[in-house]
Amino acid sequence: EEDARYVVSLIRSIPGFPKEGIVFRDFMPVLADPKALGLLFDALERTLPVPADGFDAVAGLESRGFLFGPALAARLGKGFVPVRKAGKLPPETIGESYDLEYGTASIEIEADMVRPGQRVLIVDDLIATGGTAKAAADLIRRAGGEVAGYSFVMGLDGLDGIARLGDVPVTTLVTMP
Ligand code: 5GP
Repeated sequence: EEDARYVVSLIRSIPGFPKEGIVFRDFMPVLADPKALGLLFDALERTLPVPADGFDAVAGLESRGFLFGPALAARLGKGFVPVRKAGKLPPETIGESYDLEYGTASIEIEADMVRPGQRVLIVDDLIATGGTAKAAADLIRRAGGEVAGYSFVMGLDGLDGIARLGDVPVTTLVTMP
């Protein structure tokens, strides 16, 4: 508990970024702190939404899912699948578009990064509306994979993001308004 409080105390809240009315939760001070970084990965590993033998690979969402996903995967002896913003990966890719508050966004994976039937844990720093995580899940399923669960460092209260993810186990380490 004291450890959890220590990690949470390092999460920085920046009002008005990236735009008016948003409070941005910044995890960089947690990453920069040797003790907090270790505690954070211990906690991610301890609170997996499904046991580690229930998935084969970890998928992380660009950009901040790339900070947590590969290290977690390596600790668990799994591979890592980067889910990138569209236009960065060489062909062949599979893409998925999703709605943002204003406009749309697209994400991609290399088509052969997910094997048929492979069970994938999706990792990101934060879930707000759930739109990004849902799009990643749709993409992994279209590639032939199964979504085994989702791990987030933080969930934002009152946005129903987790409800959008359907009947798949989800864990968040911290919830904030
Ligand atoms: P969603 O699609 O659930 O609405 O938004 C989640 C995505 O936006 C995640 O990929 C996350 O990295 C990013 N995001 C949204 N708000 C924040 C925030 O306050 N802090 C951080 N670090 N990322 C955010």
